[in-house]
Amino acid sequence: MLKVLKFGGSSLADAHQFAKVKSIVDADPARRVVIVSAPGKRFSGDHKITDLLYLCAAHIKYGVSCEDIFAMIRDRYNEIIAECGLKLSLDKEFDELWSKMQSGISKDELASRGEYFSARLMSEFLGFEFLDAALWVKFKFDGSVDRDASYAALRAAAEGRRVVIPGFYGIMPNDTIKTFSRGGSDITGAIVARAAGADEYENWTDVSGFMIADPRIVPGAKSISIITYRELRELSYMGATVLHEDAIFPVKKAGIPIHIKNTNAPEDDGTR
Ligand code: ADP
Ligand code: ASP
Ligand code: MG
Repeated sequence: MLKVLKFGGSSLADAHQFAKVKSIVDADPARRVVIVSAPGKRFSGDHKITDLLYLCAAHIKYGVSCEDIFAMIRDRYNEIIAECGLKLSLDKEFDELWSKMQSGISKDELASRGEYFSARLMSEFLGFEFLDAALWVKFKFDGSVDRDASYAALRAAAEGRRVVIPGFYGIMPNDTIKTFSRGGSDITGAIVARAAGADEYENWTDVSGFMIADPRIVPGAKSISIITYRELRELSYMGATVLHEDAIFPVKKAGIPIHIKNTNAPEDDGTR
């Protein structure tokens, strides 16, 4: 039995959320492959790491200093490291990233670091190996994923191991980093689930499944317990952001069930 899990930004927002992720993963030995987003908002009015990284990219583009924003990003990770009692230090990598930002870095590469650092932390926290998405999520020059090459590379790299993989990005044929569109860690999770032949793709977020309406607009909206792939894709396409619309095709084709679950209420049934 193999379960592939993807955790969204709110599930990784701080050390407290990291602890919830660990107890979910530890609760089931089938949970051996974990995909993470970048840390999201801790409270309303807070900032998502990915938004801050895009903000840095915009500052660089227009020649305005982003030192303060970069410090906020760095502090967020250092806080998680300290509060989770992790041993690793990202200081050197953050210094290198900062120099690269001065000499020229693509917007995609900069944005991808949110997931990269998140996965580095989570791999130590869970005691799993870190597996970089740049080693196996292979894009073609037209920007689409080379699925067969990616599936084969992931199988070769992850077979029989317990790994944490950063979502949201992969590598172009010319070795540059490319990201998916926003919310794209869901796609990474689906590709992993398909490649690894998972029995289930668990998508852990901040709601107890797919609701009949966006709960931010209709508080108390009921959760749907079972939904077809086609209905899910239709709703995702129409703007229900729970799952990225492109995350459905890879698992649908192999008949792998998607299970949307709430990191903050793991006992809730969620949506299958
Ligand atoms: P994550 O960061 O975990 O990927 P997202 O923010 O991408 O999470 O998706 C979860 C959010 O989707 C919920 O917090 C909710 O506000 C929103 N949402 C929109 N439509 C729906 C819906 N029909 N059912 C549940 N949540 C919805
Ligand atoms: N961190 C990226 C975003 O905010 C990808 C993701 O969360 O899925 O869009
Ligand atoms: Mg999402």
